[in-house]
Amino acid sequence: MKILIIEDEPRVASFIREGLEEKDYETSVAYDGITGEKAALEEAIDLIVLDLVLPGKSGMEVCRSVKAARPEIPVLMLTALSTTLDKVAGFDAGADDYLVKPFDFPELLARIKSLLKRSRTASHQPESLRVADLELDLMRKVAIRGGKVIELTAKEFALLEYFMRNTGRVVSRADISEKVWDISYDTGTNIVEVYVNILRKKIDRDFETKLIHTRIGLGYIFTDS
Ligand code: CA
Repeated sequence: MKILIIEDEPRVASFIREGLEEKDYETSVAYDGITGEKAALEEAIDLIVLDLVLPGKSGMEVCRSVKAARPEIPVLMLTALSTTLDKVAGFDAGADDYLVKPFDFPELLARIKSLLKRSRTASHQPESLRVADLELDLMRKVAIRGGKVIELTAKEFALLEYFMRNTGRVVSRADISEKVWDISYDTGTNIVEVYVNILRKKIDRDFETKLIHTRIGLGYIFTDS
């Protein structure tokens, strides 16, 4: 989970950042509205903590433009002002929640958690992936083919998920090694080949239509055609 903090007061920004990093959230900080807006529109982030009064562009303006382009990202607005009017204006701009400064960290964290939970529930994350007659159940972490449940280890599951999310596209051993094992590809090991073979036995061997295909010199392609 990555949280973008747009806050011009360095002390407040680092208080939030340190607290969140301690709780294992990834963070990114912008100290003005313009940089913050750019980051909000371009970076892969899950939530924005946005100060209302900012140099460059106000929190309200940033909120409005982010919500227009990426409405799925929850925005928690921070402000030193606490009048009802400001709150209404913040919600008008699309803020999902509002926190008045000064606040203590546990309260901020509770708001963030509840926004993230809400956005996860609301987003239409598929619960399974499907290619031909193979289904990968993302909740139960098993594959189902031809009505048969196939148990997978964590790495087999990760590899199959990677293949299925890249259906029809050639993926190299280096891509797999980096994305599934999080290590750069070392030609001295054959871990990718070993796992691909295990996966083939589990999901392809007993079925007429093969899904994992080798592309010599390139890698693999996952497809039913
Ligand atoms: Ca400020």
